[in-house]
Amino acid sequence: VSYSAEDVFSKIKHDQIKFIDLQFTGLRGRFHHTTISANLFTPQQMQDGLPKLDGSSIVGFASIEDSDMVLKPDPTTFAIIPWMGNAKTARLICDVYWGKDKGRLESDPRGIAQKAEKYLKTQGFDNSYWGPEVEFFVFDKITWDVLTPYKGQSYSIESKEAPWNQEGKGYPMALKKGYYPSTPADTLTEFRNDCVECLNEYFGILCDNHHHEVATAGQCEIDIRYDNLTNAADGAQTYKYVIRNIAKKYDKVATMMPKPISMDAGSGMHTNVSLWKNDKNMFYDKDDKEEVSQIARYYCGGIMNHARALSAIVAPTTNSYHRLVPGYEAPVYIAWSPSNRSAIIRIPSHFKGEKYSKIKRIEFRAPDPSSNPYLVFAAVQAAGLDGIKKKMDPGDPVYEDIYKMTKAQRVAKGIKDLPATLGEALDELENDRKFLAPIFSNETIDRIIEIERADDHEISIRPHPHEFYLYFDI
Ligand code: GLU
Ligand code: MG
Ligand code: MG
Repeated sequence: VSYSAEDVFSKIKHDQIKFIDLQFTGLRGRFHHTTISANLFTPQQMQDGLPKLDGSSIVGFASIEDSDMVLKPDPTTFAIIPWMGNAKTARLICDVYWGKDKGRLESDPRGIAQKAEKYLKTQGFDNSYWGPEVEFFVFDKITWDVLTPYKGQSYSIESKEAPWNQEGKGYPMALKKGYYPSTPADTLTEFRNDCVECLNEYFGILCDNHHHEVATAGQCEIDIRYDNLTNAADGAQTYKYVIRNIAKKYDKVATMMPKPISMDAGSGMHTNVSLWKNDKNMFYDKDDKEEVSQIARYYCGGIMNHARALSAIVAPTTNSYHRLVPGYEAPVYIAWSPSNRSAIIRIPSHFKGEKYSKIKRIEFRAPDPSSNPYLVFAAVQAAGLDGIKKKMDPGDPVYEDIYKMTKAQRVAKGIKDLPATLGEALDELENDRKFLAPIFSNETIDRIIEIERADDHEISIRPHPHEFYLYFDI
């Protein structure tokens, strides 16, 4: 369903909605809201926006001197929030504008996503589809407390207090053994069913499948249906919001931190994309051996060429780089492959033949769920389109397990590594940012770098618990 402004007002009336949550996303990716009374909400406000935002308090938005901002609701995003209790509440996702008719806020992530959609059209395509595969962890609250990293504790694998033995209470699993166990070992089946029902019935977001993921302690994946770029980013934000709120109902907490537990798998947000023109998937070519078009190859080439700089946007936390290490199905090496999970780009190949042309897509595996989906999709689009424009061929696919290659073997094949730290990724973005220019303002890129540098600094000046293990007795 796609609602018009009129539909929204008649829904408010007929469903007796009392409150409207105005939702938007900061540059960091955090989801925000402010609540208005539905009976005072007018069509004029829907059209011109509401003067309800002090931009200086939202990360990446504005300085204190000039911070009056306007939230302009997008009626198509209307949804009733089912967990709000007696006073019925609906949400509307908003676009962010400067006050005083100064136009769109350049660092509004949703505006950047919309700009990416416009830019695609100037490059000769009609549309792009995006399907994020978000993974996340669910913990009991007590486990969350145990995980607090500053306690400096370490656990043996069989320890009853260890986080990976908390979930399941009596159904322990070994590290990295969480993939597809049936109930009762998978204790989160009903939780995920509830998340899917909520996403589907209230937020209009379809989910193809869900499962327990590889990591032991409550790692889950729920896959949502592909959509246009901005819709898919709205969907990913809504998804995280729903997961967190349903987890709360179960007296649990959900986290999008990419690597909460050492020695176990981390959480990715693999990003599937295809470009379309005249209702045809431009990534499909029936005459190619892999059924991958030259356009798709150039798009991969663009992502690979800019992968080191892109990392600062798709893996934007210091924690992201604990995930991007060998041995956990997370990518480390800049290569592409039909089915190899050690490469950053995979082109899924479960089926062949023209009747499957619609699902031919690129799966970019570097992104993780601590990222801002609006920025991720926009930046990946910028890199891919740069590849098409400059005909960046990615070379031959790599079929071998790259984790098993020696450094010399990788060098011989021209396979580079992703950055090892957030600091390294930021250095790359500082030097390779031109490809983003059609979609991101320079000032926004500066802000992104500034925000992440601050995190990197905060971490670098603090001792790490594991340093006690390494150096206490030195
Ligand atoms: N959890 C893995 C990652 O960090 C991905 C596992 C999968 O292939 O679904 O990217
Ligand atoms: Mg997965
Ligand atoms: Mg995947």
